[in-house]
Amino acid sequence: MRILVTGAAGFIGFHLAERLLAEGHTVVGLDNFASGQPANADALRQHSAFTFVEHDLIQPLTLKPEFDQIYNLACPASPADFDRIPLEIMAVCSDGVRNCLDLARAAGARLLHTSTSEVYGDPQEHPQRETYWGNVNPIGPRACYDEGKRFAEALLVSCAAQHGVTVRIARIFNTYGPRMRGDDGRALPNFINQALDNQPVTVHGDGSQTRSFCYVTDLVDGLVRLMNGDIVGPVNLGNPVEITMLEAAREVIALIGSTSTIENLPRPKDDPNLRRPDISRARRELGWSPQVDRAAGFARTVDWFRQMRS
Ligand code: UDP
Repeated sequence: MRILVTGAAGFIGFHLAERLLAEGHTVVGLDNFASGQPANADALRQHSAFTFVEHDLIQPLTLKPEFDQIYNLACPASPADFDRIPLEIMAVCSDGVRNCLDLARAAGARLLHTSTSEVYGDPQEHPQRETYWGNVNPIGPRACYDEGKRFAEALLVSCAAQHGVTVRIARIFNTYGPRMRGDDGRALPNFINQALDNQPVTVHGDGSQTRSFCYVTDLVDGLVRLMNGDIVGPVNLGNPVEITMLEAAREVIALIGSTSTIENLPRPKDDPNLRRPDISRARRELGWSPQVDRAAGFARTVDWFRQMRS
C-alpha cells in the first residue's frame, strides 16, 4: 500500500514509519520539525521506499491524492510544548486535521488520527473508558492540546458523517522508548538524563500522581491493528499497568545505578492525578494488548539514551 504518515520525524511517527516500511509498504513521511527531529527523518531516508516531505500541515497539502491510508501523528505533544507553541498546536489540531481529511476524501483513503488520553483531562472516572467524556479545563495551560484534540475528534466524526470519509481514532496514553526527545520536558527523558548525570531527579509534587507507560512498539502495533480493523469510534491504546511518578523515578535511578537523589518540585497546574487506560475495547475487538513489560522497556530506553551520549 501507499501510506502517508504525518509527524514522521516525531518519536511515535518514526517507529510507525519503520514498521510500515518493514511490512513492505511505500511510505511518505511529512513533518515540519516543530517537535520532530531531523535525525529521525534522516534515518527513515535510508529506506528506498520512503520519501520525506518537509511541510507544515496547517498549510494546504499539495501531495497528489494517491494514498490508501493516512496516519495523522502531526502534533507537538509534550506539556512543555503547550507553553511554547499553544497556537501552533491548536492550528494543527484544527486546520491540520482538516487538511488530512480533505486529502483522505480526495484519495478515497482511510484516515487514522492520533488523539490522546488528554481528552479525559484530570479524570474523575478511573480507569478511563472510551465512553467517559472527560474533565477538561477549557482555559487552563493544557487547554490548547486537550481542547485541540477534542475538537479534532469532533471534526473527524463530522467529516465521516457528512462526507463519508472512513476514519479511525486512537486515544494514545503515555508512550515511551528509544528516540524520545531528550529535552522534551517529559518525566521519563528527564528522569533518565538526570539519573545518568547523577543529578537530582525532579519529581513534581510528592510524586503520588500516576501514569501508565506503554512501550512504543506495542503502541505502534495497536495503531496498525486499529487502522486495518473495523472499529468506528475512539479506541484507547496504552499499557494498563499504572505507577506513581515517585516509583517511576526510583525505578530509573535503580536501573541506572545512579547516585541521584529525588528533588520535589511544584506540581504544574491541571496536571492529571490519575491516568490508566481501560483497554477492553482494543483487547476484544483488535486482539491487542501490550507485550513489553516496564523493566524491559525502561532498559531499552536507557540503553538508547546512553548510546546518544557516546
Ligand atoms: N513530571 C515529573 N518530573 C518531571 C517531568 C514531569 O514529576 O521532570 C510529572 C508530571 O508533572 C506528570 C507526570 O510526571 O505528573 C507525567 O508527565 P509527562 O510530562 O511525562 O506527561 P503527561 O502525562 O503529563 O502528558
